Amino acid sequence: MAAAARADLGVGRCLDGERAYKARMLDRFDPKLDPQFAAVDRATLLARLGAVLPAGSLIASAEGMRPYETDGLAAYKSLPAAVALPADAGEAAAVLKVCAELGAPVVARGAGTGLSGGALPFPGGVLLGLGKLNRILAIDPDARTARVQPGVRNLAVSEAARPYGLFYAPDPSSQLACSIGGNVAENAGGVHCLKYGLTVHNILGLEALTIEGEPLTIGSEALDAPGFDLMALITGSEGLLAVITEITLRLLPLPADVRALLAAFPAVDKAGQAVAEIIAAGVTPAGLEMMDQLALRAAETYAHAGYPTDAAAILICETDGAQADALADLERVAEICRAAGAGLVRIAADEAERQRFWLGRKSAFPAMGRLEADYYCIDGTIPRRRLAEVLVRIAALSAEHGLAVANVFHAGDGNLHPLILYDASRPGELERAETLGGAILELCVAVGGTITGEHGVGREKINQMCAQFSAAEVETFAAIKAAFDPAGLLNPGKAIPTLARCAEFGAMHVHQGQVAFPDLPRF
Ligand SMILES: Cc1cc2nc3c(=O)[nH]c(=O)nc-3n(C[C@H](O)[C@H](O)[C@H](O)COP(=O)(O)OP(=O)(O)OC[C@H]3O[C@@H](n4cnc5c(N)ncnc54)[C@H](O)[C@@H]3O)c2cc1C
Repeated sequence: MAAAARADLGVGRCLDGERAYKARMLDRFDPKLDPQFAAVDRATLLARLGAVLPAGSLIASAEGMRPYETDGLAAYKSLPAAVALPADAGEAAAVLKVCAELGAPVVARGAGTGLSGGALPFPGGVLLGLGKLNRILAIDPDARTARVQPGVRNLAVSEAARPYGLFYAPDPSSQLACSIGGNVAENAGGVHCLKYGLTVHNILGLEALTIEGEPLTIGSEALDAPGFDLMALITGSEGLLAVITEITLRLLPLPADVRALLAAFPAVDKAGQAVAEIIAAGVTPAGLEMMDQLALRAAETYAHAGYPTDAAAILICETDGAQADALADLERVAEICRAAGAGLVRIAADEAERQRFWLGRKSAFPAMGRLEADYYCIDGTIPRRRLAEVLVRIAALSAEHGLAVANVFHAGDGNLHPLILYDASRPGELERAETLGGAILELCVAVGGTITGEHGVGREKINQMCAQFSAAEVETFAAIKAAFDPAGLLNPGKAIPTLARCAEFGAMHVHQGQVAFPDLPRF
């Protein structure tokens, strides 16, 4: 990811807790501690890769590999043995074959915007950058599909489809930079996913490579296909099962009308209540986002979006469709917000005002830099009806751990993004931020939610997987992984914990005979 794009996304400063972290990460992530990978000879690996890639497509110097040492979770850093940059699926297959033969770990990388350390290189392994596979191969306006290579940027698809009156619905906030391959590997979501579904609901076909470099064709443009649904399995598999080399995307007609409103609430739980009631009323907004006071004030100072800074929380709701429908839905939402206690409900008078509402929301992450040196973005999902209660509990956890938390998130999906503010240069603060993050994720599980909504598990949440899943479930994941990748070479140490790790972590987090949040009903 280019430095300029990283700065736009506010990634540079956030999470930059490297200093304190590095020593501990090396401890946890050292191939020397894993005898399985200790035997790969670097000189042989480089010679074999050099023989299958053109000059300039293999990087082996420490300086050259530095841009690949981390992803959006910049607290985690490590250098691979080599960075391979294939120009097409054939070269990618050749790299995989070499790695499979030598037993070298391989980590696929798209744009490196991931927030859970999924693209963090494995020391001694190969970082397989897919950035050169960046062509939109075809747009078929009649079938409403786009065939793209994995390195194509998310936003580039909608830009290319617009002249045909079409768009690609999943829109992560990182869409300016993140790649479609990374979106598929993370099953990315975004503002529009409440109405239009996640990545998995918007793809029809995949071409992928096994660790041996063998091609797999998954899905088709037909409505159904025989055999196991490998599409759902590969989507969200975080680079652990196969390397995606081509994607057929579903495109949708651009809606005739798009409307938005901003509602300001005197209390966070009232905003949470309004979200549950909007969905219960049968309205499906194209986007329904919430920001609490800390987040909205920072965004307002940064982007001048016109947010009421005295509100405890705001909702931004967008509706789309035929002209009469979009407006009728928005008026219904306005009524519900007023009834739930909104002090102010402002319907965007024109497109410029609608864009301003979103500008503030989209600037919220970078705006955090005004509040604190670093932030740690948590990603968990909860049932919508528990929203109000969970936000109140997060505030209590924030006070308990002595770190401020700003909330800005996809409220309609129940997908929380608490942003824990900390300063890595203050001794112990990164660790406290991590502990608080873990407690928030466990709270999500305790109320019937999950430890990730869209950012994946990666390195970051591997321990919380033990809190989310039983031993039998973790073993099932491991068995599926082994069916695709028996030697465990694709993205090792990510997403699926070993049972030994869960045992070490404390499995269900039973501390002194007590599970976390014992007062909550369990699921
Ligand atoms: C400011 C900001 C806002 C964000 N907002 C959102 C949001 O709203 N919604 C959301 O879902 N995410 C969001 N993200 C997270 C991130 O952008 C997404 O997870 C995105 O899908 C990652 O794409 P990438 O190309 O950067 O993948 P990378 O970070 O390069 O990789 C992510 C994972 O995918 C694997 N991978 C990448 N390419 C391939 C491939 N071709 N084959 C197999 N595996 C592969 C990697 O091994 C890794 O495990 C945000 C990130 C930032 C920095």
